[in-house]
Amino acid sequence: IQNLSNFKNKVIENYENGRDRPDKNYTSKLSPHLHFGEISPERIYLEIKKKNLNNLESKKKFLAEIGWREFSYNLLFHYPDIRKNPIQKKFKKFQWKNNSKYLKAWQEGNTGYPIVDAGMRQLYQTGWMHNRVRMIVGSFLCKNLLTHWREGEKWFFDKLVDADLASNSAGWQWIAGCGADAAPYFRIFNPITQSLKFDTNGEYVKKYIPEIKNIPLNKVHAPWEMNKEEQIKYKCLIGKDYPRPII
Ligand code: FAD
Repeated sequence: IQNLSNFKNKVIENYENGRDRPDKNYTSKLSPHLHFGEISPERIYLEIKKKNLNNLESKKKFLAEIGWREFSYNLLFHYPDIRKNPIQKKFKKFQWKNNSKYLKAWQEGNTGYPIVDAGMRQLYQTGWMHNRVRMIVGSFLCKNLLTHWREGEKWFFDKLVDADLASNSAGWQWIAGCGADAAPYFRIFNPITQSLKFDTNGEYVKKYIPEIKNIPLNKVHAPWEMNKEEQIKYKCLIGKDYPRPII
């Protein structure tokens, strides 16, 4: 309840523009409290609805997110095997590659792509990951590494403090492109442009990947673009201090 009033009074005005920024603290962090039933979605909905805000769009966006959670529960009700089977059955026979080395590198945050690695390390260290980054790391696992979305679902379920059967399964099916409202299977998040767009100052990637902290902004989202001299100067040898991109 304290978190809700803090969010309502100090943070929500920035939600519309800030909610996609993993380097900022502009989301509510209410997810574990909702999951464990410490606060109800109805209470959140009603308190936010009656709050007067200058930025109406922020209010609408936030209430819509609470709606996504309800939608996930609705899906779970209608598809009780949502954790295991794709809602769109045609994806059941999809030929995943399932390379165990790739999976391990992804889990440990050692893929060589800073935004992916920062997200996976944030998850491991704190038990939480920003929503934008959940989408980026998920897309990378399923669509670049061609690893079954269930591997991602299992890892998240084990590590997230807000691990939730409905929202996690629906999130992974969305990412993989086999869910109800799925992002089409051919939509792939580009980890470099996403990073440039949503972590503009490189603060998020540097926070979770100390190996790249000296790299200037023009190379920090794609450190492999540094030449040898730059790698020495910024104390980050690619392939030694920080991995070469795995794909
Ligand atoms: P806010 O932006 O402040 O949103 C407020 C609340 O709305 C959240 O607490 C959450 O209850 C709900 N919400 C927001 N986005 C979503 C969404 N896309 N789907 C469903 N509910 C949403 N959320 C979980 O609670 N548990 C999970 O296990 C989970 N796994 C996910 C896996 C993937 C692959 C993806 C892409 C998303 C997942 N989400 C999950 C949804 C979302 O990432 C988190 O709810 C959100 O990041 C929590 O942070 P917050 O409370 O600050 O969110």
